[in-house]
Amino acid sequence: MKNSQNSAGVLTAVDIRKSFGPVEVLKGLSINAKAGDVISMIGASGSGKSTFLRCLNLLERPNAGRIEIAGEELLLKADKKGELQAVDQAQLRRLRARVAMVFQQFNLWGHMTALQNVIEAPMIVLGLSRKDAVARAEHYLERVGVAHRKEAYPAFLSGGEQQRVAIARALAMEPDVMLFDEPTSALDPELVGEVLRVMRSLAEEGRTMIVVTHEMGFARDVSNHVVFLHQGLIEEEGAPSRVLSAPSSPRLKAFLSNTS
Ligand code: ADP
Ligand code: MG
Repeated sequence: MKNSQNSAGVLTAVDIRKSFGPVEVLKGLSINAKAGDVISMIGASGSGKSTFLRCLNLLERPNAGRIEIAGEELLLKADKKGELQAVDQAQLRRLRARVAMVFQQFNLWGHMTALQNVIEAPMIVLGLSRKDAVARAEHYLERVGVAHRKEAYPAFLSGGEQQRVAIARALAMEPDVMLFDEPTSALDPELVGEVLRVMRSLAEEGRTMIVVTHEMGFARDVSNHVVFLHQGLIEEEGAPSRVLSAPSSPRLKAFLSNTS
């Protein structure tokens, strides 16, 4: 665990609400990630973890709330369905580029090699030349230990390799904050460790991360803050040593006794 020297807010969301039809699945959630924070989000299936993560970069449109990325507020206005839309598409693209997402199912493009997967967004979104994008991609593929597989298509990579390529793809955007949605849940047990090791090393180099995870060891050892969601609300949050070892909420106690 580290102490960040820079305590500026990297990603702040305030009172995020989201309904699907008549069902409100996020009932006013707030989070504040400062530089170097590693925040673990835990909670039962269906508690709203993925929806919340997706709202943070507007992959899902919240019905209410405020989002600030790198100190800049995302300009939002409600459409006639009551969903918040970005007012300024250029601002949305710019701010989104600062927030990288790693998904449970990797979401690599199957028709592209590992290298092509990693160079795509830096070229298209950031406007890098192919040469610069390739150099950058090779650097990050090396960083996550899959440079030797750069010419392989996803179908020929193990799940652990695919997820590490997906992490390299996120890193290649050089984002301010990385969001991980259960990055090891789709992996065979013997491949979980290689992905967790990469994530731990990213945390150790001071990257700001918000990680939805069922890996309590990761939450305990790597994160500096743990948030427990229950039915679309934060039921309890705090330092992992306290939240995971001495929870006050009976629901969190029950959750932890089922997972560990
Ligand atoms: P978690 O990631 O914690 O398992 P989710 O955020 O995926 O939870 O889901 C929270 C709730 O929202 C669940 O009840 C789920 O069924 C519902 N939900 C998620 N996405 C949609 C959607 N696109 N349409 C309707 N309901 C959804
Ligand atoms: Mg989920």
